[in-house]
Amino acid sequence: MAVDLHDAERDNQVMRDGCPDCRGSDEATWCAGCGGSSSFEAMHGTALARGVYWAHSVAARVATRASWPPFEGRVREIALAKVDDLAGNDWARELLARECHRRAAEEWEELIAHLATVSA
Ligand SMILES: [Zn+2]
Repeated sequence: MAVDLHDAERDNQVMRDGCPDCRGSDEATWCAGCGGSSSFEAMHGTALARGVYWAHSVAARVATRASWPPFEGRVREIALAKVDDLAGNDWARELLARECHRRAAEEWEELIAHLATVSA
């Protein structure tokens, strides 16, 4: 799947608009909370990559093929811990944790679908 950088930039801008430290301002090329326009994309990409790794590591350890658990309680705490070093404020931490969790759930669905195919 081709990556549309223009769309990625727009999506990142939409996500950054909620940052309480800079409100997604274009002038905030650097923001202690969300990374600003210069580094939010890298933080976001790292959170997504960690989500993929999260799904694979769980698949390697557990036999269950149940659905990925929702973003709440212990699962939310785990996701928050996975992005803790990336975010500079609680808002960015929550957003990146949700993105990490969302990507993990996507990857998990692909993994269990693939496993169902090879074991059938
Ligand atoms: Zn910000």
